[in-house]
Amino acid sequence: MTTIQNPQGSFELDATIQALQAIVGPERVSATESDRDQHARDQSAHPGRLPDVVVWPQTTAEVSAIMRHANQVGAPVVAWGAGTSIEGNPIPVHGGIVLDFRDMNQILKVHQNDFQVTVQPGILYKDMNESLARYGLFFAPDPGANASIGGMVANNAAGIRTVKYGATKDNVLALEVVLANGEVIRTGSRSIKQSAGYDLTHLFIGSEGTLGIVTEATLKLDPLPEHFSAVTAAFPTVNDAAEAVFGIIGSGLGPAALELLDTKTVTLMNTEEGIDLVIAPNLFMEFNGASEAALNEELSMVENICNESACRHFQAGVGREARNRLWQARHRAFEVMVRHHPNQAYLLTDAAVPISQYPVLVAATDDIMEELNLRGYILGHAGDGNMHTAIFFPADDAEARAKTEQINSHIVQQSLALGGTSTGEHGVGLGKQKYMEQEHGPIAMKLMRDLKALLDPNGILNPGKVLGQT
Ligand SMILES: Cc1cc2nc3c(=O)[nH]c(=O)nc-3n(C[C@H](O)[C@H](O)[C@H](O)COP(=O)(O)OP(=O)(O)OC[C@H]3O[C@@H](n4cnc5c(N)ncnc54)[C@H](O)[C@@H]3O)c2cc1C
Repeated sequence: MTTIQNPQGSFELDATIQALQAIVGPERVSATESDRDQHARDQSAHPGRLPDVVVWPQTTAEVSAIMRHANQVGAPVVAWGAGTSIEGNPIPVHGGIVLDFRDMNQILKVHQNDFQVTVQPGILYKDMNESLARYGLFFAPDPGANASIGGMVANNAAGIRTVKYGATKDNVLALEVVLANGEVIRTGSRSIKQSAGYDLTHLFIGSEGTLGIVTEATLKLDPLPEHFSAVTAAFPTVNDAAEAVFGIIGSGLGPAALELLDTKTVTLMNTEEGIDLVIAPNLFMEFNGASEAALNEELSMVENICNESACRHFQAGVGREARNRLWQARHRAFEVMVRHHPNQAYLLTDAAVPISQYPVLVAATDDIMEELNLRGYILGHAGDGNMHTAIFFPADDAEARAKTEQINSHIVQQSLALGGTSTGEHGVGLGKQKYMEQEHGPIAMKLMRDLKALLDPNGILNPGKVLGQT
């Protein structure tokens, strides 16, 4: 008999495995080392931790029964989508049960005339969009990695198209959620406008699996654009590029994507991805239009704004193939960086500020990295004020690690001072907990802890995340 001790109490592993097998069948429960190891870490550099057992549920009723059991015995439960988080969000730091949603990956209904879809949480958004293309529709938030809808809802993921279409939170209408005690609730409705009571849907969005388990989501879709143009624009400095971002957004133009890449990132993408960008800080942009004429008019305004920020090279009208290559390369930028720095640890910052403050944040980041003589890659979803800095360092170099943490902390402090946030899209996970009190204040933090205690009194849902120990 194996007793598992954790801050929630202790539970008998063998009895829990038997209970899980009774719920889902023995073939969908595993305590093998390799299955546990595959659910021990996400894509971040946060240290992994093996769960005690992994389960692959197929229905809401199974999830409900699992939660009832876990709540009774005090076993931690961590939901698992695709494991692509980069802040330690799904790492089962207290062990327990990992609920892997791989087998709950169906499109339940396409509401074609309402531009909506109802799906299970384990569906990967790229697979979903491939199926939706035949209806001429797509789900706009795109975090780049092939994340699951459950993970995107739980992290409130965003991506290159957020500047036009919003983040995940702006594109979810309704949820089915299993609570910590196994009860099942439905939040929201399929109406675009909703004003009926407290907004429980958005309480669960971004809660990183700490308040409930999402078993179904109804999502808002958009028509696939018919006319589009991709643009690249190169600038003398990152700051000039950031100023152009402010100009483009400030002039009321509506880019469908607006990404900033510094010289180091551009150099790497040229060599590793075979694209041919001017070696300088670049903006990648995409514009969609109702007609070619409207699009061309918009593009000439964009070119003028870029020229006002000393643009060195402006290329618009990139064809479909080149446009796809550009976005694929952008999506792969982080993976390429990781490959380029084998055996190194990394830290990826995620500050986001109001758009008017974006040039200030970028300049301050450039300065501090120079001051500490630590070069990182600056890239980000510039159109919505979100800046990532990827800093690589030797994993066993304590001094470099401390310097990197110092930069992260400096960037977060800058962002908060500029009216922004410590994390625009990656979530709190493990890495941003230390900034939560400062960002929200003690009274709001107490309210968050009270909400957690109300919804999860035994503290079994993804313990140790968002609020730390509660
Ligand atoms: C190369 C790369 C690029 C990325 N780019 C972006 C980007 O541009 N924008 C962005 O936002 N993110 C980005 N990410 C991060 C990541 O893809 C997102 O955070 C994504 O939302 C994680 O989804 P997932 O399915 O992998 O979830 P997981 O990592 O498996 O889980 C994420 C969180 O959701 C919880 N969870 C999972 N399923 C459920 C459920 N059914 N119910 C309740 N909770 C659940 C987990 O417990 C965990 O807390 C990137 C990651 C990589 C590796």
